This record gives sequence, structure tokens and C-alpha cells, in this order.
Amino acid sequence: MNSVNENIVDIYLTCHYFNNMTTTQEQQTDTPDLKGMFLPELQVFAQSIGEPKFRGAQLASWMFEKGVTSFDDMTNLSKQNRDQLNGVARITEIRLVKQARSRRSPTIKYLFALDDDHTIETVMIGGSRRNTLCISSQVGCAIDCRFCASGLAGLTRNLTAAEIVDQIIQVRTLAGPNRSINNIVLMGMGEPLANYGNVLRAIRIINAPWGLGIGARRITISTSGIAPRIRKLAEEGLQFELSISLHAADDETRTSIMPINKRYPLDVLIDACRHYVEATNRLITFEYILLAGVNDRFEDARRLSALLRNVKGKVNLIPYNPVEGLPYETPNPGRQQTFHEALQAGGVAATIRRERGRDIDAACGQLRLKEITGGNVPGLP
Ligand code: SAH
Repeated sequence: MNSVNENIVDIYLTCHYFNNMTTTQEQQTDTPDLKGMFLPELQVFAQSIGEPKFRGAQLASWMFEKGVTSFDDMTNLSKQNRDQLNGVARITEIRLVKQARSRRSPTIKYLFALDDDHTIETVMIGGSRRNTLCISSQVGCAIDCRFCASGLAGLTRNLTAAEIVDQIIQVRTLAGPNRSINNIVLMGMGEPLANYGNVLRAIRIINAPWGLGIGARRITISTSGIAPRIRKLAEEGLQFELSISLHAADDETRTSIMPINKRYPLDVLIDACRHYVEATNRLITFEYILLAGVNDRFEDARRLSALLRNVKGKVNLIPYNPVEGLPYETPNPGRQQTFHEALQAGGVAATIRRERGRDIDAACGQLRLKEITGGNVPGLP
């Protein structure tokens, strides 16, 4: 896949990555990061430094609506205000390292560096007017799904709420007004429900009218199935979409590809899903990657329809996006179709997701992995 990748990547941009590395870790942790704050918190912050409350709304508007990251560019603030803010607060800005465009689809994959130089990926999928942005919630991932590239190097750290939100702000600026971002999916690197507090904070900022103003029903959280956190999510009173990465319909198969299933086996997971549906009256989408010879037999389709018979939701079948160095393969289209039909015959609503951006490795963690390892997958023969 390496040579394919070299051929198809039209644009590899190196940006202001090296010019922007002067902020120290101490400064970052001691100084409040305004991009991770809610409007009422920004108002309290403004008052705490002797400013009027309305300064909070001005700060929110500069950061979230206009995408400004320097206090010096906030032109409705006096020079004195700007100098003061420079001394007491900061605004996180992730830095573009590379972007890769797909030749065959309008998909663009972005690699961003954080203040501590760790990297994350964000992927824009879609057509010219309607776009979905796939964002990351952690650097790496601890869940260790066997088919996924994101977890191969383990978990480095959680993203802050500001780093999660900023992926959208940066891509919005980079992509320009002709490619507006309509949907957000937390399906990039990381397990969102393992970074619960920061992810929920980010979602509230993304959704708020004073924030990014993206409708809750256009925001999807995807989880490998942290059952207690699914129950907790049900109590949040938010109207976002929930996706469960199911990928198998029996415990033995699921544990073999998703070790998290040992901790929260299918009966516990499905119970939590049922609770979620009852408490929120929302449908759940069950993601099911088709892996040749692993979970794509007729028997699997039959078990899957039995498992989901009493849960309000639908199944999204995803042809596996092969990861270099991992032993999994995509079933051929005929087999995918047969599985799809068997599910529908079992009374389960299902769709097959069209693959987009396969030529730029636009599945979990693949661009970052190449960046870090030069294509060698760590820990594999
Ligand atoms: N940790 C979360 C969200 C990130 S992964 C979760 O597990 O849901 C987003 C989706 O991509 C998950 O359904 C995941 O199982 C799937 N995925 C991972 N690697 C993939 C690959 N190589 N091809 C297709 N889908 C993949």
C-alpha cells in the first residue's frame, strides 16, 4: 500500500509546524485555555480579570465563529485589553503538518500537531456542499481492536476539549467557504467514551449557538462499547447520534477482534443500548465492519439479526479498509451483498456504507501511523 500511497497523494503540505514550537508545557498547563470554555465560563473569566461580562461573548465569537487564535487580532478589544489577555490566557491552536487529498473522491485527510508535538488526524469526507468531518478524541487508543490501526501504538493521552473543537475550526478555515462542514463524527483516533468529560464538553461547544452552532443531530459519537458510559450518556439530555462499533454478534468472535468485549460482553452492552434507547427515545446505529472469514458468514448475519431484534436501531455495514501489516481482508462485493440481504431478511434495517478515501488510508489512524513509523507497524512480525 505504500507505493499506492506515494502515487495518490497530491498534496503534502508542511506548514508553520516548526515556527510555532516555542510555547512550553508549563505555560500551557498554568494558563487557562479559553477555547475549552463555555460562554458562562468565559463571562466569569472576563469578570475575574476586571473586564465587563460581555467580553466573554466577544471572546467566544472571535474564537468559535471567526476562528481567530491571537488576541492581537481581536480588533474590537483595546490594545490594553489585548496585552492583558496575552499575559493571563491562551487559545489552543493545533498546527497543520500535512494534508492528503484523495484522487478518487473529495476526501481530504489532515494531520495536525498539538502543542506537545503529538499528532492527530482529522478526515473530511463528502461532496462539495455536504461534508462530514471525522475528528479524533485521543492521541492513540487503548482499546486495542485487532483490525484497527489507531490502537497499534497504544494510548498516549486524551485530547483536551479545545483540541477536539479546534479540529473543526482549523478544517473550516483550511477548506474554505465552498466546503461547509455539516456533520461531525467522533470516529477518528481514540475512544470518545474513555475521554468522557472532555468529549462531552467539546460536543456542547460544537453544538452551542455561541460555539460552532452545529445541530446535535448532526453530531455522532462512536464507541467500542463502554457500557457504563453509554448509560451515563443517556442522562446527559443531549440529542446527538450514538453509534456502537459492534462488529460481531457472538462473544467469542467479538472478544477475538475487540478485547474490550471481555470487560463488557454483548449482553451487558446490548442492555446498556436498550436502556439508552428507552431513556432518550433515540435510535442507535450499530457499525459492523465486514471482515472476510471472520464475521461475514450467513450464520453471523442470522445471529446479528437475533441480537438486535429488540433494540431500536439500524446496522451500518462497512467494508473493511485494509491496514498494512494486519491480517484482515474485505469480503468481495457479492459476499457483502449476501450478508446485507440475510440481515434484512432477519428484519434488521441495514445499509452498506460506500467506501471513500481508501486510496489515502482514510480509516482510523492510518496516516498518523505512517507518519510516526514510516510505514512499519510496531509490535508486528
Ligand atoms: N473508538 C471508537 C471510535 C473510533 S473508530 C469506536 O470504536 O467506535 C471509528 C470506526 O471505525 C469504528 O467503528 C471502528 O471499528 C472502525 N474502524 C477501525 N478501523 C477500521 C478499518 N481499518 N476499516 C474500517 N473501519 C474501521
